[in-house]
Amino acid sequence: MKFLICFGTRPEAIKMAPLIHEMKRRGMPFKVCVTAQHREMLDQVLDFFEITPDYDFNAMQPGQQLNVLSSYVLKEVDAVIEKEKPDMILVQGDTTSAFIGSFAAFNRQIKVGHIEAGLRTFDKKHPFPEEGNRQLISRITDFHFTPTPQSSVNLQQENIQKEDIYLSGNTIVDALGYAVTKLNNGFANTEIKRLEDLIRADKKIILVTGHRRESFGQGIREVCEALLELVERSGAQVVFPVHLNPKVQGPVKEILAGQSDIHLVHPVTYPVLIWLMKKCDIIISDSGGIQEEAPSLNKPVIVTRSVSERMEGVEAGFSFLTGTMKERIIEKGLELLKNKPDYSGVSNPYGDGRASERIIDILLKSL
Ligand code: UDP
Repeated sequence: MKFLICFGTRPEAIKMAPLIHEMKRRGMPFKVCVTAQHREMLDQVLDFFEITPDYDFNAMQPGQQLNVLSSYVLKEVDAVIEKEKPDMILVQGDTTSAFIGSFAAFNRQIKVGHIEAGLRTFDKKHPFPEEGNRQLISRITDFHFTPTPQSSVNLQQENIQKEDIYLSGNTIVDALGYAVTKLNNGFANTEIKRLEDLIRADKKIILVTGHRRESFGQGIREVCEALLELVERSGAQVVFPVHLNPKVQGPVKEILAGQSDIHLVHPVTYPVLIWLMKKCDIIISDSGGIQEEAPSLNKPVIVTRSVSERMEGVEAGFSFLTGTMKERIIEKGLELLKNKPDYSGVSNPYGDGRASERIIDILLKSL
């Protein structure tokens, strides 16, 4: 039984890495194929987890058009399938790379395993692109590995057979364990040193990230304006690793560059982001992965989205949905900076750090 693992962006790489480590540990035959839908951000993760892809499509283009990306990746994955003849393709999450990887396998009648299956916003009006991708992948997947009980229920409600759904937990918690262990063992990094010099020890820290297409334009502008006022009214400082997409870079730099107590930095590597998460007081983000990591580090996250496919964190009191509305972000930010929620006894609803082990156990048993 031979596996082809196919992914293209930073979050997919982070969530696939523990699975790749586990397959290696158990001596399973597999090949890794990256589309490189992200380039630099993907490579940082591959380096940290010491993963060398067998195939690299180098697909990233300036002003990436999703149809151009899709047709290129489809052709390239198909050639790899032709050469390697895998029995199953493993994809992760909801990107174009994940959908096209699964679609290529489907067309070749090769089994598909979907990691982090069953997330849903149920947003019919704006399913673009993640909700659309994940629903499309579910239609053609054979093995659905879900991160939470709710995601299993979501799939059953779409008439997916119960016996094809496997509750594994989210592999991001496994990856976080790997990163925290490396950091605790004195992982030396010049970026951390530079940030230590930049960050003021006498001020609280608001960690900010943002990248979603749904917030491009007015949404990002409002988040930036909220940050300006939040910093002024709370006396806290912002650390903002700015995503490389020009639609994020443009407004963020225009509104926030040169403002005092707002540190705009290049996207940081994964262990540095985890170091920042451990150090900060609150997080403001539209990131899915950060919402899943935050509970393990006991940090509250203001989610700058009006819908989420990750309501488990909201229910457990870790995530707070504000949309991109300036007033709501400021109000929630001030409240959380003043009174940090008490998370004692609350565990991470997304996983326990053993998801990869479970996924591999299931694959080995079922094949
Ligand atoms: N992350 C990172 N560097 C950053 C920002 C985020 O390594 O500057 C990590 C973060 O810890 C999480 C993942 O990237 O594991 C989330 O990726 P992103 O927010 O880009 O995508 P999403 O999770 O929303 O799909």
